Amino acid sequence: MLLEQLRAYVEYQQSTGIEGFPLRGPSPATETGAAPSPQAPSAVAPMPAPTKVVAESGALFLSPGVRRADTVETLRSEIGDCQLCKLWPGRTHLVFGVGNPRAKLMFVGEGPGRDEDLQGEPFVGRAGQLLTEIITKGMKLRREDVYIANVIKCRPPENRNPEPDEIAACQPFLRRQIEIIGPKILVALGTIAAQTLLGLRVPISRLRGHWYDYHGIKLMPTLHPAYLLRNPNDKKLVWADIKMVMAELEQYA
Ligand code: URA
Repeated sequence: MLLEQLRAYVEYQQSTGIEGFPLRGPSPATETGAAPSPQAPSAVAPMPAPTKVVAESGALFLSPGVRRADTVETLRSEIGDCQLCKLWPGRTHLVFGVGNPRAKLMFVGEGPGRDEDLQGEPFVGRAGQLLTEIITKGMKLRREDVYIANVIKCRPPENRNPEPDEIAACQPFLRRQIEIIGPKILVALGTIAAQTLLGLRVPISRLRGHWYDYHGIKLMPTLHPAYLLRNPNDKKLVWADIKMVMAELEQYA
């Protein structure tokens, strides 16, 4: 138990950017350095996919209220008017999540942008429209059949990348949100979501297209829809990933 807690603590420190602890699983030493720019695939060959998640970040930091919450509504009210990180003064809405609270499929993005901040709902801007098309036209599902959330719940200024302390502060919320919803499949959209959930600082170009295990839930990393808006030629990569997700989802129909 103590060892588990220590391991979780060390991994939490790593997730906040502190280096120098040996990681379990594939060594990130050759793939990291500074976190890669978001969703920028590199030309490196895909690495063999690890099958187990290597981080338990945030595990020690679930407040009793958050741990006790057993519906998305109670979790939302536990989060309340959160002021745990420096993003709260700039937000219009805390963007918690949307969709079917019993969804078999859950998408996790990075964080709210301007439209999401104004409307209080994830993925409602241009990237959101593309995600909605992937869900409705590609997967033949309704947006309300799946659940959609983000790693961080408040918009960073000028849509900059979330910083490690912001991710760490919000991570217990996402973690509990996933536990409550209990999806069979998670799709991590882009670098921040994939790296946060997996605890790996490996470029999304290497992570995508492989299955991982997030606490017993199958996790597929793919490219972020905002990246696809700038790089439409890579839509075929996302379609390949989504087809793998659809095939897996069949099992749970
Ligand atoms: N990008 C994200 O990662 N999440 C959103 O909710 C919107 C855009």
